[in-house]
Amino acid sequence: MHVCAVDIDDGKLAHAKRPRATLLKVMQTERSMHAMVLNKVGGALEWTELADREPGPDQIRVKVGACGVCRTDLHVVDGELAHPQVPIIPGHEIVGRIDALGAEVEGLQLGERVGIPWLSHTCGVCPFCAAHRENLCDQPLFTGYTRDGGFATATIADARFAFALGDSGTDESIAPLLCAGLIGWRSLTIAGDGKHLGLYGFGAAAHILAQVAKWQDRSVFVFTRPGDLATQAFARSLGATWAGGSDETPPQALDAAIIFAPIGDLVPSALKAVRKGGRVVCAGIHMSDIPAFPYRLLWEERQLLSVANLTRQDGVDFLRLAPQIGIVTKTTRYRLQEANQALADLRAGRFEGAAVLVP
Ligand SMILES: [Zn+2]
Ligand SMILES: [Zn+2]
Repeated sequence: MHVCAVDIDDGKLAHAKRPRATLLKVMQTERSMHAMVLNKVGGALEWTELADREPGPDQIRVKVGACGVCRTDLHVVDGELAHPQVPIIPGHEIVGRIDALGAEVEGLQLGERVGIPWLSHTCGVCPFCAAHRENLCDQPLFTGYTRDGGFATATIADARFAFALGDSGTDESIAPLLCAGLIGWRSLTIAGDGKHLGLYGFGAAAHILAQVAKWQDRSVFVFTRPGDLATQAFARSLGATWAGGSDETPPQALDAAIIFAPIGDLVPSALKAVRKGGRVVCAGIHMSDIPAFPYRLLWEERQLLSVANLTRQDGVDFLRLAPQIGIVTKTTRYRLQEANQALADLRAGRFEGAAVLVP
């Protein structure tokens, strides 16, 4: 692969003696990119050719190797999140290699493999950023939601929010770690260190988290749609102590439960399943309405919490640990042009583990 360094000013080649601040390193690439674009909320993604984009001074351009498909992508497409912006390229579990570097980027190299997660920019000055809670930033940008994401052959990202990934493992196997894994990890941290952990919904996030929890020597109790014996068997194959329907009572009281399925009815069910002082963590960005429930389900210091986004430290912590745990992701591969099929299959629960788009 040919590597060159050129000066670029507003996308045009500039004189070679321009100040160093405009220096941009690029690999020679095609002059255009392709993406699956959401042009209308509720509509299908459309295969689109776009002009190649140049990174700003603190940005990188990444040639996408794989991009996972997350339930949040469905919420974006369906218009279930506030402030939908179109056109937008969804996708926030991106693994790829840097093929252009902004002049002010430090610590990353051309050709290096990186992961780009949901959190793509924070303001750095709001009270939440100042308190090391950047996941709650007042002025954030999110990959694939308020900034173009990875359902594309290439994407632009803020270098400070990309994770260096090293070279072991395939792009496809790592992609689900970038959101399903990270949000699962944050949820687990917030759930506390109780030994008996319940997981409601056993998709991309839970199938990763079950492996983490088992590695931590916890017992995992998995709840699926009633009658979904195949997913229950899949959960047991990954080390779950017990797996049953969400209408069933686990064989013992849980210390904590994490709800991944976007179904509000599961909240009172999970509160019923946790012991006194136990925690129920809602891990999704969107959920159907929670039905009214008797106060006695919350009484005795049970706690109901939600998890929002991630911090970069979550990413550093989890991605450092993932190789030690030996997490194996179960993926179903789709070509990038098949993104609509991948979303439809996710909606219908037609695969186990995670869907991944490969350009
Ligand atoms: Zn996600
Ligand atoms: Zn902020």
